Amino acid sequence: MSDPTGWKNIPIGGLIVESGNSHDYKTGSWRTYRPVLDEEKCINCHQCWIYCPDSSIMIVDEKMTGFDYDHCKGCGICAEVCPPKVAAIKMVLENE
Ligand code: SF4
Ligand code: SF4
Repeated sequence: MSDPTGWKNIPIGGLIVESGNSHDYKTGSWRTYRPVLDEEKCINCHQCWIYCPDSSIMIVDEKMTGFDYDHCKGCGICAEVCPPKVAAIKMVLENE
């Protein structure tokens, strides 16, 4: 039978004590896959920028320039929403 007080022995995890502080941390550090941009294929439609849940698409002068790897979590949404005929984003294993 399991010990009903066992949960008290679990170490306290990370606590977020204030909102809007993700920029202070490298929240993409546990990523498994990372997106890679093929600049030759990109048509700068900005679909990836619209849908990225971590605001990790970098745009300079209306041009998609790459990813903020400190905060990208590797979800792959950007690669999914990039127009199929363009397919400018490829997901690769983090250590590739
Ligand atoms: S993989 Fe996810 S978090 Fe990373 S840039 Fe693409 S949409 Fe954003
Ligand atoms: S969705 Fe694809 S084509 Fe559009 S800006 Fe992003 S990488 Fe470029």
